[in-house]
Amino acid sequence: MQPLSSIRASESANDELFDGLVRLARQHVGVLSALVIAGAEDQPRIRTCAGAALGNAVSHFEAPWRCADALLVVADIQCDERLRDLDLLAAAPHVRFLAACPLRAPAGEVLGILYLLHDQPRELDTAQQQVLHQLAQLAAQLLTREAADAQRQRELDLLHENERRMALAIAGSGTGIWDRNVASGEIHYSTGWKALLGYAEHEVGNRIEESYTRVHPADLAYVQASIQAHFEQHTETYEVEHRLLCRNGSYKWVCSRGKVVERDSAGQPLRMIGTTTDISAMRTLSEQVQQTATLMTDLTNEIPGMAFQYQRQADGRSFFTYASGGVRAIYGLTAEQLLENPDLLHEIIHPDDRAVYLSSLAISATDLTPWHLEYRVQLPQQGTYWRQGDACPRQLEDGSVLWHGFIADITAHKLIEAELQEFATTDFLTQLRNRRSFMLQLETELSRVQRTAGHCATLLMFDLDHFKDINDRWGHFVGDQALRHFAAILGAQLRKTDAAGRMGGEEFAVLLSDTDIAQAMNFGERIRNELTRTPLVHDGEQIPLAVSVGIAAIHAGDLSPEAVLSRSDIALYRAKRSGRNRIECHSEVAH
Ligand code: GH3
Ligand code: MG
Ligand code: MG
Repeated sequence: MQPLSSIRASESANDELFDGLVRLARQHVGVLSALVIAGAEDQPRIRTCAGAALGNAVSHFEAPWRCADALLVVADIQCDERLRDLDLLAAAPHVRFLAACPLRAPAGEVLGILYLLHDQPRELDTAQQQVLHQLAQLAAQLLTREAADAQRQRELDLLHENERRMALAIAGSGTGIWDRNVASGEIHYSTGWKALLGYAEHEVGNRIEESYTRVHPADLAYVQASIQAHFEQHTETYEVEHRLLCRNGSYKWVCSRGKVVERDSAGQPLRMIGTTTDISAMRTLSEQVQQTATLMTDLTNEIPGMAFQYQRQADGRSFFTYASGGVRAIYGLTAEQLLENPDLLHEIIHPDDRAVYLSSLAISATDLTPWHLEYRVQLPQQGTYWRQGDACPRQLEDGSVLWHGFIADITAHKLIEAELQEFATTDFLTQLRNRRSFMLQLETELSRVQRTAGHCATLLMFDLDHFKDINDRWGHFVGDQALRHFAAILGAQLRKTDAAGRMGGEEFAVLLSDTDIAQAMNFGERIRNELTRTPLVHDGEQIPLAVSVGIAAIHAGDLSPEAVLSRSDIALYRAKRSGRNRIECHSEVAH
């Protein structure tokens, strides 16, 4: 326990009452010292003391007095059994008499103790004990009242502190406060309110009519209508964004919020309080955001093609979260249709490209690699078009993948590409494959022969006989016609799996898949017969054409297409040497 002498009693309006009380107790009983110890057991303090400074002795007391129901009298401390174990005797040998009376609150807890101390042993008569009882009751009441006062004071302090914090917060948030007496038409503004618009304290009047002159003319009707609606209790609170005139002549965007806090018995508003918050920064920001959004929308809508945002959730469900206006041209849908039902695309994407469309997106989602795909769409009543999609995936925290991308129309590009492809692979004069394209086909066939056991194929080389003479006799133009005539005969005899090409000049090659030498010879014969049966006619004159043919089988052991070609050339050479207009086969044994 702390020594009491070091703890100062707090001062209060009750000090005099307490002083009087202990003085009275001391004088009435006739002891050297009377004192009141207040506070809880672990925090006792001398509330008041009268008489000789025997109070210090009490610091060594323990709490047996607190347990007492009422007055406890120790006539002679030195002879009292109850005090044997306490330090009191040693610490305060000069104290011989002690009376202690606990001061109890109405609920029963001990608020303090009233002590009487004396340096001689003595007794207390009944009258003295009664007085002491009454004084103790009085002291207990005083302490109870004091505790209640202290509690009230603490609450009041807290309230003031909260109020101060609130005022600071309101001022710091760019908010002003107003208080309007609806009946009298007066309105009072806080200093912060005035400062918000740049006005000094005395520069703002307190009439509501003047207030309305500060509202931007374009906003006035709306503001007044909102207030009226709240007055008539159509709205729970009044809240409106509008402009207010600042001292410097400019207008500031504010948000006014208020509420009627008092009404008369008929429900008419008497008093309304509210706040005005500066929202100009927020307005500017939101205008900037709006401008940026408009710019973005305009950009994405005006650029040919479709900008989009597409999301695949962790559960596999996927959908578009944005599609620019180009969605109409790209998919023949509105953005709303596509956003609402992404499955509509399944009908639009060409059946041959659907699987690759889905798998390419799945790979992009798994590997988080950019999506790139050229695919076809079928637009109702329009036909088939080519589209190119590019998008970058990004993994979101919830495990879903979000793409931002663009779909472009590449139909025209694809057409040109196809034309170029045809230019690059077709012989212009005969419309057969050119040499390069034919050799690629031969290479493909060779690898098929090498891959597939039992698969055979043959190569036939055709060279028109004495073609130079045709040119010489009928002219180059007729020579060209003869080349086209022969190409047409070849083409008419081909199956889908076969290929024919012009290898140069008046030399042609035919690749017959799944065909052995004997079948190839039949084919060669058919060509020779057709050539005889349908001669080229020019100016009513028949132009005789004949062809020599060299045949070679494709072997799995052939190292290159050129190897096959050279064998058929050898056979062709032999046909020429042997008198032309005939067929020769390369007769070496297949490896
Ligand atoms: P051979 O029976 O030995 O094959 O005799 P040939 O005259 O057919 O053979 P040669 O190689 O001597 O002559 C081929 C001729 O084909 C020479 C060339 O002027 C002609 N020629 C090559 N390309 C074309 C072409 O595109 N158009 C025309 N009209 N003639 C061509
Ligand atoms: Mg030739
Ligand atoms: Mg020739």
